[in-house]
Amino acid sequence: MTIWNLGSINADHVYAVPHIPTPGETLAATALNHGLGGKGTNMSVAAARAGARVAHLGAVGADGGWMIERLEGYGVDCTHVQRREGSSGHAIIAVDAQAENAITLWPGANREIDLDAVKQALDGAVAGDLLVTQNETNGQVEAAAQARARGLTVAYAAAPFAGEAVRAVMPHLDLLVLNEVEARQLSEALGTSMEELPVPNVVVTLGAAGCDWIETATGTRHHVDAPKVRAVDTTGAGDTFTGYLLAGLSEGLPMPRALELAARAGALKVGRHGAADAIPSREEVEAARF
Ligand code: ADP
Repeated sequence: MTIWNLGSINADHVYAVPHIPTPGETLAATALNHGLGGKGTNMSVAAARAGARVAHLGAVGADGGWMIERLEGYGVDCTHVQRREGSSGHAIIAVDAQAENAITLWPGANREIDLDAVKQALDGAVAGDLLVTQNETNGQVEAAAQARARGLTVAYAAAPFAGEAVRAVMPHLDLLVLNEVEARQLSEALGTSMEELPVPNVVVTLGAAGCDWIETATGTRHHVDAPKVRAVDTTGAGDTFTGYLLAGLSEGLPMPRALELAARAGALKVGRHGAADAIPSREEVEAARF
């Protein structure tokens, strides 16, 4: 079984600066780090680290060769990652000594994905495969509809949150994953509770408090605790959680077991600095004693 991920691929350029530059100021950075980031990338890496077969659907620009190499290094199949002429999605991140940051994000190739090519790629999917998508690329609704028509299970992480985007993709979903803030925003935008959403399974992540899984058919809410850890960097916690959750489901684990696996992976991630490169392996997740 394959997890197909229509998701963003970003370069994170992280500059260490004495302070966040003020308007009109020119400031020399003291260190520069190029990392792999983007919600799509993080989810693909997490699912692959969990042991799933992952095929990434997305796009990079002319400067994106190293990102594809890194993704492939994590075991993610990038056969269907498209090449665009312009620049890859990237984030220019200034971080000061107090860990305050200022981020300029350029979506770039992530918003230029050719949907005909996505459709062709999905012709290689089989019923029972899984499609996941988020809100950092174009084409979520089209891909979700195509995947559903082919008998795939479709999951969506509603981040970054946009009410209209969730509303449009919801009819095609089997599983919706949101954090607590996004869940509140969605409730307000639609005027309904999570229990009333037209999606069979809704998972609301609650940070250190774990997560709730809502089976909307019966309106049943199940809670899963998160292991207790000392958090040093919560970047990518939700993506790690979702990637592991999907990997667990693709193995045939029942939802409660897949959620436990995801919670263990999320807890290990928040104990480490970094995004995609800090996602724990399955061995580490299985061996962890909390
Ligand atoms: P997001 O990163 O999308 O905002 P959350 O903060 O809810 O999402 O985190 C996603 C999941 O990661 C949580 O459901 C939990 O399992 C795990 N997690 C996040 N923060 C912590 C923490 N401080 N301690 C333990 N687990 C955590």
